[in-house]
Amino acid sequence: MSDIIQLLPDHVANQIAAGEVVQRPASVVKELLENAIDAKATHIKLIAKEAGKTLIQVIDDGVGMSVTDARLSFERHATSKIKSAEDLFQLNTKGFRGEALASIAAIAHVELKTKQEEDEVGTEIKIEGSEVTSQEVCVTPKGTSICVKNLFYNIPARRNFLKSNAVELRHIIDEFHRVAMVHPDIKFDMYHNGSEVFSLPVGNYRQRIVHIFGGKTNEKLVPVDEETDLVSITGFVCKPEFAKRTRGEQFFFVNNRFIKSAYLNHGVNSAFEGLLKEKTHPSYFIYLTVDPTSIDINIHPTKTEIKFDDEHALYAMLRSTIKHSLGQFNVAPVLDFNR
Ligand code: ADP
Ligand code: MG
Repeated sequence: MSDIIQLLPDHVANQIAAGEVVQRPASVVKELLENAIDAKATHIKLIAKEAGKTLIQVIDDGVGMSVTDARLSFERHATSKIKSAEDLFQLNTKGFRGEALASIAAIAHVELKTKQEEDEVGTEIKIEGSEVTSQEVCVTPKGTSICVKNLFYNIPARRNFLKSNAVELRHIIDEFHRVAMVHPDIKFDMYHNGSEVFSLPVGNYRQRIVHIFGGKTNEKLVPVDEETDLVSITGFVCKPEFAKRTRGEQFFFVNNRFIKSAYLNHGVNSAFEGLLKEKTHPSYFIYLTVDPTSIDINIHPTKTEIKFDDEHALYAMLRSTIKHSLGQFNVAPVLDFNR
């Protein structure tokens, strides 16, 4: 019998990895926004055309990249964010897998422009289907701009599988919100087909939430605050009378990352016991901070599910804190726009 096993060429491996990381235009938006935040940007601009199907561009004023790093950033498992497996449990960054840019470059036309503060000139790199087609010196401000054009141009099955522009745009806006909500200290702008969709000035959590969800939100928010050895909880729940029939605005963030957790969601709901009309769901915006060694983020490529060491204690803490806030609020409503 002859040997039949071969190592896959890089562009094939990248395309397979892309299948996990990039499901739709919104996945690209998430990865690019997270990279801009990791690069310490203070102003991030998202530009999309046709719900991201033809163009997604993210421009940041972060640290930028050197020529060598700009080239390396598109290699698989190339990351500046971790050096060892132990670092996975001490994460201060959103990224760590080093797969996003390699994956995106395997399934789209990508143009990168980047410059570090100390460099005279920047670097411009164009890539199509993992192949670098040009690399030049360019004039560009400090920071990074990445254009992702014609997503899935080389995977017709994926491209055809995309939903209508309205649906794909909804997903993009959801990702944009999730990222913007944890970083009220960063200015965010979003444009779609040439029109401004959002312009979010720097502020606090409450102001950011109100900017995103509209002025009427302000009066609905009840602050939630608790700090223990296990967790710090901050954020807001909406007053029970504003609970909705749809599960609209329900957000958990853990260490500045949006996560989904049916279990913790149940914890929040249980704090509203007896206060809600039948078949309605409370809105909430909860920011949890826990010891990074007590969670595992690396259980899913999109990192929206995480594993907690002590989920039960967290559940109980969340429930009692929210109950307390709702109780206090009923006795003496205090709304402080300054926190
Ligand atoms: P990860 O974020 O997991 O490290 P990515 O593929 O998203 O992997 O990015 C690879 C590397 O490229 C990053 O580790 C970072 O060093 C660099 N990089 C990507 N985007 C930016 C950006 N907007 N500004 C500065 N550096 C960036
Ligand atoms: Mg990344």
